[in-house]
Amino acid sequence: MSKILIVEDEPDIAELLVYNLHQAGFETITAFNGEDALKHVNIQSPDLILLDLLLPGVDGLDICRILKNNPATADIPVIMLTAKGEKTDRIVGLELGADDYITKPFSPREVVLRIRAVQRRMQGTGTSAAVKQLRIHDLVIDLDKHQVFNRRQKVDLTATEFKLLALLAGAPGRVFTRDLLMNELWGDNYFAVDRTVDTHVSRLRRKLGELSGAIETVRGIGYRFRE
Ligand code: CA
Repeated sequence: MSKILIVEDEPDIAELLVYNLHQAGFETITAFNGEDALKHVNIQSPDLILLDLLLPGVDGLDICRILKNNPATADIPVIMLTAKGEKTDRIVGLELGADDYITKPFSPREVVLRIRAVQRRMQGTGTSAAVKQLRIHDLVIDLDKHQVFNRRQKVDLTATEFKLLALLAGAPGRVFTRDLLMNELWGDNYFAVDRTVDTHVSRLRRKLGELSGAIETVRGIGYRFRE
């Protein structure tokens, strides 16, 4: 269940938010001023923060700045609650890294929809980060570090072999023609012949040991990675 920190000094609005977020299945924590908000962030690590900008003491923009400058809290999404006239504050807030804003007066339903939209967006970035590692059969291919592990054993590959493996394993079942592979591996300025691809594939297969069969030859066309 997602935990939402509500930072709002007006008790009526805070109560309205708590009620409606509970109805929508969220867990809530409430802070009525900036100091408490920062305390709650550190102790309770909320999943998202609804942040009123006009607060007594440390105001909303300061909180936003503090959170976004701290690597430990920078990734917590922030939705600002602003009054109609606070356009400059809104812009500053977005520049500081806030993820969205809602103008008062708002409907609770809108707040719930915005929270869900921001969370979906965050999940989106989460998956794209996860794609930096391919896991297939017993292989882990780390696209960032250019490392390959076969059952946790590191496999030493040349740059070309790595590229070849990442291409094939990145689209299991898809047939890559030799032409396409040559183009991907060496670009247009290659002096490679069909045999060059074959040579790299057989070296790669040898290094993959028991998994060598995962790279299948498609007779007369090219190669594919077994699904
Ligand atoms: Ca306020």
